[in-house]
Amino acid sequence: ITATELTEATLDNIAATDEQLQAFISTNPDEALAQAKLIDEKGNFDNVLTGIPVGLKDNLATKGIQTTGASHILEGFKPIYNATVVEKLFNNGAVSVGKTNMDEFAMGGSTETSYYKKTTNAWDHSKVPGGSSGGSASAVAGGQVPFALGSDTGGSIRQPAAFNGIVGMKPTYGRVSRWGLFAMASSLDQIGPFTRTVQDNAAVLSAIAGFDAHDSTASQREVPDFSKKLTGDVKGLKIAVPKEYFGEGIDPKVAQQVKAAIAQLEALGATVDEVSLPHTKYGVAAYYIIMSSEASSNLQRYDGVRYGFRADDVKNLEDLYVKTRSEGFGDEVKRRIMLGTFSLSAGAYDAFFKKAAKIRTLLIEDFNKVFEKYDVIVGPTAPTVAYGLGEEVDDPTAMYLADVLTIPVNLAGLPGLSVNAGFVDGLPVGLQIIGKPFDEQTVYQTGYAYE
Ligand code: GLN
Repeated sequence: ITATELTEATLDNIAATDEQLQAFISTNPDEALAQAKLIDEKGNFDNVLTGIPVGLKDNLATKGIQTTGASHILEGFKPIYNATVVEKLFNNGAVSVGKTNMDEFAMGGSTETSYYKKTTNAWDHSKVPGGSSGGSASAVAGGQVPFALGSDTGGSIRQPAAFNGIVGMKPTYGRVSRWGLFAMASSLDQIGPFTRTVQDNAAVLSAIAGFDAHDSTASQREVPDFSKKLTGDVKGLKIAVPKEYFGEGIDPKVAQQVKAAIAQLEALGATVDEVSLPHTKYGVAAYYIIMSSEASSNLQRYDGVRYGFRADDVKNLEDLYVKTRSEGFGDEVKRRIMLGTFSLSAGAYDAFFKKAAKIRTLLIEDFNKVFEKYDVIVGPTAPTVAYGLGEEVDDPTAMYLADVLTIPVNLAGLPGLSVNAGFVDGLPVGLQIIGKPFDEQTVYQTGYAYE
């Protein structure tokens, strides 16, 4: 099969299946076929990604191709450069077929805050795909593309991977360049791959990881071969299981399923001990202050002057800003801008932002202590399986609490992987594997042995 044939078949399949999945905001057949043609002309297929179609979350800048962050305010916006990860995928020969749906500016956990459409879960179209990278997850699980990229600020790769029964990796903070990712919360955001297998995931991360002079937080560390420890062997691996990850709010059926997965790792020769991450319950509160504060600053750039949408009938510059932002942003985005602006204001800073920053340090110390003795931390990815479309969208607090198991990993900058751990009531359950900073290898090793 040629790259052109594969690209054509992929685009046809997306056209046939996306009415149900609604995973893509846009596809770009012309650019994809042009890319495939060049690859076929070159005829060099040595790289595993050459000619392979990919879906890109719509908050990753693609040169000349509309990139909206699923926001009305960026409707029609065509970046003039590619995100570093996109450039790296292209250098490896991958072919981008389209931009996937997401929560507006990655704010949400169900992809329902998108301005454009509602994506459905690949296993049950009446359920949410998770979020914010729900389009990427659903596209991979639904067989539209073999892999996709997403971003994870508080769980947005791992939770939709869990809800769709696939593999999703949030790498260590700094492992992957954020250049060209529309910033939500700069100290938390990371880009990572969605795939159907751990092996594929490791291959994609190898392609996108590494230092980048465009991102001052991109790590200089060497990028190891992430597939190196995919041996199936976990004998002697020390696994910690935090008791807080099986406490209040966790669906007992999900807990049971994840415990069975952990028993399987134990049967393979790993040692498993219960540990405590005592500050887990403060993570969500700290996250919503830190994330909103950073987002309120990052989103100032959308002013109606520089990008995309601009309101009509304005009286003056101030009116242009106000009208554009009022009409251009959705409710969830406005809620977070207000919360963030408040948390950073002189009167509230000490009581809110500073406190949240202290909690962040306590969470990091919790993890450090456990990692003195253990190789990985394992538990559920999300407290429940996918819920019905429309069920939680009006209850932001319930939605926020659903991130309790993924958020601490972002606050501590650690790598976290979600792999499928079977099903509850016909819906996939995610097993989360958390590693030491920059130890994605051991995380993949564990996931591969289990899978
Ligand atoms: N669901 C979380 C939130 O709404 C995480 C989002 C993300 O990781 N981008 O903030």
